[in-house]
Amino acid sequence: MGEHMQKVLYVEDNPLNMALMHHLFKKNLPFVMLLEAETGERGLEMAERQRPDLIILDIGLPGLNGYETLACLRREENTHQIPVLAISAFAQLSDIAKARQAGFAGYITKPIRVRAFTEIVQGLLAEREGQV
Ligand SMILES: [Mg+2]
Repeated sequence: MGEHMQKVLYVEDNPLNMALMHHLFKKNLPFVMLLEAETGERGLEMAERQRPDLIILDIGLPGLNGYETLACLRREENTHQIPVLAISAFAQLSDIAKARQAGFAGYITKPIRVRAFTEIVQGLLAEREGQV
């Protein structure tokens, strides 16, 4: 275990989804700090400043959408290596394939299946722990 507390940034415009995520983290990932941003633009600022270990990025956002936000993250020196999980209510196989192709580390569909989601986050954070 590292000395530092790992940080996850959740970019989400829906306050209810944000509240649910805080609840989920508190209950299932209590040793992880959850940071929040309500737009892609704000998410980019937060990512640059906070250097989270993982970003969970809503696809449907006002302003920059999830794909555009991911593209910006990938262009920046300080954020290009951070794994990014897509989260969306769109659950077609074509959506999932598109997200993989864009470079997302994974694709979570809403509503979130808590156990599977928690395992994915833990897996990505464990990989990250090994690298940092
Ligand atoms: Mg949204």
